[in-house]
Amino acid sequence: MTDNPEVQGQPLPVTFRRHKGGEPITLHKFGPKEPGHYSCGVRCEVCGSPMEAGQYTTLVPFRCSEESDPERWGNWLSLEVHYDCVAGQDPPALQAFVDWLDKQIVRGD
Ligand SMILES: [Zn+2]
Repeated sequence: MTDNPEVQGQPLPVTFRRHKGGEPITLHKFGPKEPGHYSCGVRCEVCGSPMEAGQYTTLVPFRCSEESDPERWGNWLSLEVHYDCVAGQDPPALQAFVDWLDKQIVRGD
């Protein structure tokens, strides 16, 4: 978690991952989620259902960190969602979700 980003007052499971700007987003499958993980019970912003222990999730990069060059490999703010909720999406649909995230998510500082 970093700086408690939020959407409409809801804290979000946001962390950093490596991504190269301008490249298609590669989705890594993480899990199964351990009981007690910080994002257990937190809502997935794609389907609206909570992410639970035993499920698989992924990190969707949506904004380059201030220290990184958006044209190169760097650290990107990324939102955790269910893997299955985004893995089957067409690239334009995924990009639309990323664009939405970048508008919605503000740093809580
Ligand atoms: Zn979901």
